[in-house]
Amino acid sequence: MSKPRQIAVLGATGSIGGSTLDVVARHPERFRASVLTAHRQVEALAALCEQHRPDLAVIGDPALEGELSRRLAAAGVRCEVAAGHDAITAAVSGGQCDTVVAAIVGAAGLDSTLAAARSGKRLLLANKESIVMAGPLLLAALREGGGELIPVDSEHNAIFQCLPGGRPELARSGVRRLVLTASGGPFRGRRRAELAGITPDEACRHPKWSMGRKISVDSATLMNKGLEVIEAHHLFQAAPDAIEVLVHPQSLVHSLVEYVDGSVLAQLGNPDMRTAIAHALAWPERVESGVPPLDLAAHGTLQFETPDLATFRCLALAFQALRAGGDAPAILNAANEVAVAAFLAGGLPFLSIADVVESVLMELPPQAVVDVRSLTERDRAAREAARRILRNAC
Ligand code: NAD
Ligand code: MG
Repeated sequence: MSKPRQIAVLGATGSIGGSTLDVVARHPERFRASVLTAHRQVEALAALCEQHRPDLAVIGDPALEGELSRRLAAAGVRCEVAAGHDAITAAVSGGQCDTVVAAIVGAAGLDSTLAAARSGKRLLLANKESIVMAGPLLLAALREGGGELIPVDSEHNAIFQCLPGGRPELARSGVRRLVLTASGGPFRGRRRAELAGITPDEACRHPKWSMGRKISVDSATLMNKGLEVIEAHHLFQAAPDAIEVLVHPQSLVHSLVEYVDGSVLAQLGNPDMRTAIAHALAWPERVESGVPPLDLAAHGTLQFETPDLATFRCLALAFQALRAGGDAPAILNAANEVAVAAFLAGGLPFLSIADVVESVLMELPPQAVVDVRSLTERDRAAREAARRILRNAC
């Protein structure tokens, strides 16, 4: 048997990080968590290090490096410790891993995701914000590095599984459309007027998936599906008109691929991210993930409906940004991150998230995506515009 894959789990203390470590721990002969990173959750990171014994632990906030070292020493864990944003990026490129699970939330994951792509290692992409922001740059980095990207986002992982031979060009594969399914979130079926007083806890109570708070709010506004449409466009080189969203409240069909001969292939499974993660870790092989078998007879009915774009305007805004091209998706993403953080902090009504995103898109017309430096500058400008709009609204 060959040596286990050495896996860097970026965002190890998060929801995807936890699911990844669960799958890794089930297969010690195949996988080993060799690098673990977190932002500020020093206690949780130390506990994970005690359990998984990585070679390197990185805490994003440099002020917490000493505390991490102390906690690890007290627990008798011997591993290298580093701190800071750049240390996370360096860990990805270094010799301590051959596989990178990019599971940091938001634009904060961009540099490490790009570094993973450039390194030629296997990149398991959960951090959708990085490909939304920098799709062309990420694809160029992947080509330069010569490594492989396996999508972890369940819809994209499903599409990957339904396409022939991994990552083909759609037109030559006879694909007509990609159909991304959406659960519809906790507010499916509600009208605008019913969403006025929504609290952060209500928005984060997702009916089917247990996830971090930012993506939970994105699921409630349908911005998550919008980001996924842009993600699918880049990952599979699909034209905006060849991507459709279908609401499917049971979240058992994770997405579909329609071919020109009328065949439609779908991937099904229980709504548990460990399936996509296990697929991406073991690909092209298959390993057990801990997810119970799907019992379709127990579910009985699968429903499908078109999304309500008038109520859930964020999905329409994402399509608009994708069609506008250039760095419009990066502007959309930055404005959304600021608006969602304000909503979670109690400083913005739920329905105003879309208003903020729309205003920032109007204020900053798209420019071409040139390099990371100019993109980061535009990301900063969009955040500033969003904060100003928030201040003026209050
Ligand atoms: P989460 O909030 O549960 O975890 C985020 C992780 O990122 C934590 O470990 C945190 O310490 C780390 N982090 C946050 N800010 C950071 C920073 N500035 N620097 C370094 N590390 C930082 O989030 P999650 O739900 O696990 O989602 C992670 C990513 O995966 C997101 O991009 C999300 O859209 C995507 N995703 C998640 C799910 C899911 O089921 N949770 C499904 C598909 C895609
Ligand atoms: Mg998804």
